[in-house]
Amino acid sequence: MPELPEVESLRKNLAPVLLEKRIRDIHLLREKSFPNFAENKSLLIGQQFIDVRRRAKILDLVLSNSQHLLIHLKMTGQLIFLDKDGQRAGGGHPTADWLNDLPSKHTRVIFDLEDRKQRNSQLFFNDMRVFGWLRLKAQDQLSQEFVHYGLDVNDPNLNIKYLLEKAKNRQISIKQFIMDNQVLAGVGNIYASEALFRAKISPLRRANSLSKIEMTRLLLEMQQIIETAILSGGTTFDGHYVGVDGLAGSYQDQLLVYGQENAICPDCGRDFKIKRVKLGGRSSFYCERCQR
Ligand SMILES: [Zn+2]
Repeated sequence: MPELPEVESLRKNLAPVLLEKRIRDIHLLREKSFPNFAENKSLLIGQQFIDVRRRAKILDLVLSNSQHLLIHLKMTGQLIFLDKDGQRAGGGHPTADWLNDLPSKHTRVIFDLEDRKQRNSQLFFNDMRVFGWLRLKAQDQLSQEFVHYGLDVNDPNLNIKYLLEKAKNRQISIKQFIMDNQVLAGVGNIYASEALFRAKISPLRRANSLSKIEMTRLLLEMQQIIETAILSGGTTFDGHYVGVDGLAGSYQDQLLVYGQENAICPDCGRDFKIKRVKLGGRSSFYCERCQR
């Protein structure tokens, strides 16, 4: 599932190729992927992309008529831009469609684009499991759309006071707490395990049991990991697609505990092995000796 660093990398990959492109036409191949498309189509055709933003894990493509095309990739969504020369850019969930001819059987929406010199290109929204979505929103509807999200983990306004206030009275595990979108947007399962390991805090601790010092350590590790992961282009797990130019990330090379059950702890060594435990239905990886 693409997390914040993967969506931010997708944003960075798409911004240079989408800006100033005009939407010539749109083909919706699966209605579920873009509810209310029929009513909104006339607000999309002929518009240019003037900005490519992101909030939480949602891409926000700003159009020249001030409408916002929001895209959530959910489990298996991907966006691939393809120009006349076969150059690709994009990202999202890594599958064979990163490399295959497009459209594929997972293509749900196709945007036909053109630049100022009327050279054609296309943007494909592919989504194997069809949980992802596209929505068109006016400027004044945006805050409503994001009302349930806490601050982004890389938001400069995020501070220790905010986290401690949110953690007060919370009995859930610290791992579930930092993954709660209403607290923090953007810390997914991979990065939560990694941040807790680096901060030496057990994922099983109750959120309200962390001292100010511990919470500060955790916040710094989360911010550091997300920043590094964004610089690495995110994490691309499926080995087949690592290194696909313009789409794949490389943060998987820096993971210390995620997916490492029974591996030797990289910190305390020989006798202690990484454990896996399920919290809120998600696998968490940690070292019992290093993380208290
Ligand atoms: Zn250890």
